Amino acid sequence: MDDERRVVALTFDDGPSANTRRLLEMLAARGVRATFFLQGEHVAADPDAVRAIHAGGHALANHTWSHPHLPELPRAEVDDEVARAADAVAQATGVVTAVFRPPFGELDDEVVAAVAAHGEAVVLWDVDPADWEAGALAERTAQRVVAGVRPGSVVLMHDWQDSTVDAVPAIVDALAADGYAFVTVPELLGERVAPGRVFSHGRPIG
Ligand SMILES: [Zn+2]
Repeated sequence: MDDERRVVALTFDDGPSANTRRLLEMLAARGVRATFFLQGEHVAADPDAVRAIHAGGHALANHTWSHPHLPELPRAEVDDEVARAADAVAQATGVVTAVFRPPFGELDDEVVAAVAAHGEAVVLWDVDPADWEAGALAERTAQRVVAGVRPGSVVLMHDWQDSTVDAVPAIVDALAADGYAFVTVPELLGERVAPGRVFSHGRPIG
């Protein structure tokens, strides 16, 4: 069973950010690859950062163009949000994204249908350290992640939050000491990735 493997997927949303390069250096120093759910307008603003993520061997994933509340939008705008972000990643790197995460984790049938029509799977998370909170502390973020990870976990983080990037060495070192290997989301899911499928961790939920 894949889910019994001691693997974990670290994911970073909303980038690239001003902290992305610092994060990439930390990950590279530890030989860790992660998954970046990129926001299209940020990709367009800093395509070099996205190329650096790609060059580091990390997975590039879709997190909409402008981070809207998708269930509040008409279908055509949902389609546009998904497609524009994917196009921005493709223009910057040539990579065709295969996985998508909705802003705020907000899904409805129409959103899933739009993502499926675009050929991507939906990937949520099972570990949320609430690192986005104002005043989040690196030590607390690290404790929450390490305490929450199970084999096959997908961890939600945000690299625009300074304290999250500060927490990464402790997170990686603790999980590695606990026997975990770090994989990208596409590696975690493997052939189970299919358009419109919904995952929260290594197993589909819809
Ligand atoms: Zn987000």
